[in-house]
Amino acid sequence: MVEISAKSVCGGIAIGRIKYFSKKENDIRRKKITDTKGEIARYQKAKEEAVNQLGALYEKAVDEVGEDSAEIFNVHIMMLDDEDYNDSIINTITTQEVCAEYAVATTGDNFADMFANMEDDYFKARSADVKDISERVIRILEGASDNAAITDEPVILLAEDLAPSETVQLDKSKLLSFVTRLGSSNSHTAILARTMALPALIGADIKEEYDELMGIVDGYEGKFIVDPSADVLEKYFDKKKADDEKKALLQELKGKDNITKSGKKINLYANIGNPGDLAAVLANDAGGIGLFRSEFLYLESEDYPSEDEQFAAYKKVVETMGGKKVIIRTLDIGADKQVDYFNLDKEDNPALGFRAIRICLTRPEIFRTQLRALYRASAFGNLAIMYPMIISVDEVLKIKEISKSVREELAAEGIKTGRVEEGIMIETPAAALISDELAKHVDFFSIGTNDLTQYTLAIDRQNSKLEPFYNSHHPAVLKFIKMVADNGHKEGIWTGICGELGADTTLTEKFIEMGIDELSVSPKSVLPVRRVIRSCPTNE
Ligand code: PEP
Ligand code: MG
Repeated sequence: MVEISAKSVCGGIAIGRIKYFSKKENDIRRKKITDTKGEIARYQKAKEEAVNQLGALYEKAVDEVGEDSAEIFNVHIMMLDDEDYNDSIINTITTQEVCAEYAVATTGDNFADMFANMEDDYFKARSADVKDISERVIRILEGASDNAAITDEPVILLAEDLAPSETVQLDKSKLLSFVTRLGSSNSHTAILARTMALPALIGADIKEEYDELMGIVDGYEGKFIVDPSADVLEKYFDKKKADDEKKALLQELKGKDNITKSGKKINLYANIGNPGDLAAVLANDAGGIGLFRSEFLYLESEDYPSEDEQFAAYKKVVETMGGKKVIIRTLDIGADKQVDYFNLDKEDNPALGFRAIRICLTRPEIFRTQLRALYRASAFGNLAIMYPMIISVDEVLKIKEISKSVREELAAEGIKTGRVEEGIMIETPAAALISDELAKHVDFFSIGTNDLTQYTLAIDRQNSKLEPFYNSHHPAVLKFIKMVADNGHKEGIWTGICGELGADTTLTEKFIEMGIDELSVSPKSVLPVRRVIRSCPTNE
């Protein structure tokens, strides 16, 4: 028996036969040719066929994992059409008088190396994509069939790395899990695994000799066990059974209300970081989105995202949610989330520094661009806006002035907007303590318990050494939550929790007793929290 530690990119337990997937190395020979024009035409025909294959894969992926996860195949099509990539291949054929296979392989390697050496994690991850598209064109040139049937029975798939196209082509009913040596949590393959809810590990020290042996993947503990002993196998059969039963029971809760035994209804929403998380939101039957951390748009960009780019992302989210509430939080960067092109100064205490609303109010042009995009998107669904890191009424009044002027500007341009609730996050002790005053100026409160705990207890949430001291159950934090709910209700506004504590089912009953109206949790926590709400006897 061998036990290997790895990084989990998706939880769950899988037990089954291991299949080591070894990609056929393309043994490309540098064949000399004389008819360079004919060779270029051969390449162009193969490229066209690759585009057709990718189009078909896109359709398949849309059906299986949703539009956002499928988008990678459109990216592949764009990469195949990239001018530099094509010029390099054609140039290699022409100047070196070599076969198309060789020209595609060398160009693919060069481009993959270039991406791999980039600083940005997103571009690093694109290295695998360039390799993937190049291998596809080479397979077509060689007349080989597509890589579809990696497995024909349910297996734990081991691979050095898996390209998104390989992952999506796998028949889900034949795949128990996958374990790779390479890959990152940011890669599209990891994202697809999460969307497909497959237990998956990366960074595992895998070996070809494990092929055909029995294996166990523990996606909860980040463990891969090869050739388990009878005792371990039995233990994991029990663990998996309990896990499956829990999941099956949770599925029965889909479509049910979030209602306590005494009839109190709670809104149960999901937190997302980008539009790619929408499939999980829908799969877990969340009633809306309680926190969309909009910073992803800024973190993934090389420069300030334009109004149109932002509008497209927000519109997509509200449209996908089809009339359900979508609360989008305005930009919350600074502290641990640094973006180079903002050119923020280095700070001694970044968590207490220039972040979130402080940046937006100091640089209103950035704020106005985001607000314009948000208000434009509001015409397409049920959009609400919330502002992070508030500490004073004065800030709220300034925000409202800017947001009013943005609405007036849009109206003057004849651009339609919808009715938008405007709320604030309560994540500083100052905001909690003056929540009676703040409640007079906003439509709702959403308590950010991650930061509220950090600032109430004076404990850096990023510092792993302080983990034992970071106690979100501290009476001071709970007192603040109750105070905020009470003050909100006095002014007739609702109060939710969107920090991680909202998913802590040991506190669900307490939150309901406190009068919390909404909980926004990660998509996979929606059904577990629903289960607890429905078992609560609570009379508010
Ligand atoms: C919070 O602080 O609780 C919160 C939800 O915001 P973030 O975790 O993004 O800081
Ligand atoms: Mg916060």
